[in-house]
Amino acid sequence: MHESEKPQEKKRILTGDRPTGRLHLGHYVGSLKSRVELQHSYDTILIVADLHMLTTKPSHDDIELISENARGLVLDYLAAGIDPDITTIYLQSAVRETYELNLILEMLITVNRLTRVPSIKDMARAANLSDEEMPFGLLGYPVLQAADILLPRAHLVPVGKDNESHVEVTRELGRRFNSLYGEVFPIPEVLIGDVPTLLGTDGQGKMSKSVGNTIYLSDDEKTVNKKVRAMYTDPKRIHADVPGTVEGNPVFQYHDAFNPDKAQVEDFKTRYREGRIGDVEIKDALAKAINNFLDPMRERYRQYEADTGFVDQVIVDGTERMREISAQTMKDVKSAMGLSGAWNRIARAAEKRRKKIAKA
Ligand code: ATP
Ligand code: MG
Repeated sequence: MHESEKPQEKKRILTGDRPTGRLHLGHYVGSLKSRVELQHSYDTILIVADLHMLTTKPSHDDIELISENARGLVLDYLAAGIDPDITTIYLQSAVRETYELNLILEMLITVNRLTRVPSIKDMARAANLSDEEMPFGLLGYPVLQAADILLPRAHLVPVGKDNESHVEVTRELGRRFNSLYGEVFPIPEVLIGDVPTLLGTDGQGKMSKSVGNTIYLSDDEKTVNKKVRAMYTDPKRIHADVPGTVEGNPVFQYHDAFNPDKAQVEDFKTRYREGRIGDVEIKDALAKAINNFLDPMRERYRQYEADTGFVDQVIVDGTERMREISAQTMKDVKSAMGLSGAWNRIARAAEKRRKKIAKA
């Protein structure tokens, strides 16, 4: 059978991250863990979403950081267990069909709908932008994300809870396109990770690199110990014999997520609620659990970092594959819309005239 006639055997995943810094434990439990687990059963495509970065960081200085940040991000993927032999990793800005599909999708959604996406206001606030300063492109963030997901005709999108409303916009845009022009896109499902939102070490909200309440996958043992020791816990507990609250306490959320010794975690919770344990004992056990969890990643960091140019090659190979996939989709999109017809008719007529003149 010819390559292009083969039925697509595996369903496809599309998800990724902006190259604005290194990945942290929140990224891992929210999305990266699902990608590592599912990469063998799905054709997995990871996007290094640098165009999304431009929504809040469009300066030349920001743009100059993209290549270094992209390398760090891909190192984090590989260290976390993404297998570069089976998973495709590409640079968004190098796939021109992204810009094309984005523009077409922009016609299929209202401004009103986009202003109701909760995370847009959060992102504007995080970037210190007032309502008057809201960039058109930031309002369009979920549309660009829809272009990313629909281009490879993905079936599944593993993301953290804060991204769920964006995937909903993708689903609406996919349905809208299909109903206007014919079935081109599968309607993708969202997959929220085991821990929908991991709290920050400050316990004040989600772990976020812009807030600085993170533990990075690339942190060394000493750094992890220091960060865990400084973590927020129940502020009522001024002494070890004061009963504490486990719910909403980041130390226990992390124990649940990263300590495989469930009996130990249950024992800690019981004694904490009864005021029979000090914070230091719980935190030292947590630091140990996180370090154990990160140890295999540290080994892979060492391997991949030693191979200069390897991550660049991974990005180049992935981008080339994504360009092929995207070109096919845009051909189908334009043909379904009849958009290629206009150009073809005009070009044919011009060619006819050119030949006539050449003969005369
Ligand atoms: P941050 O929010 O830390 O500044 P970011 O905004 O650059 O990082 P995103 O692109 O928003 O990163 O997130 C990448 C993926 O990781 C998304 O699927 C997002 O939902 C998920 N994610 C980010 N932070 C968390 C968290 N604290 N808990 C769970 N999932 C998270
Ligand atoms: Mg975010």
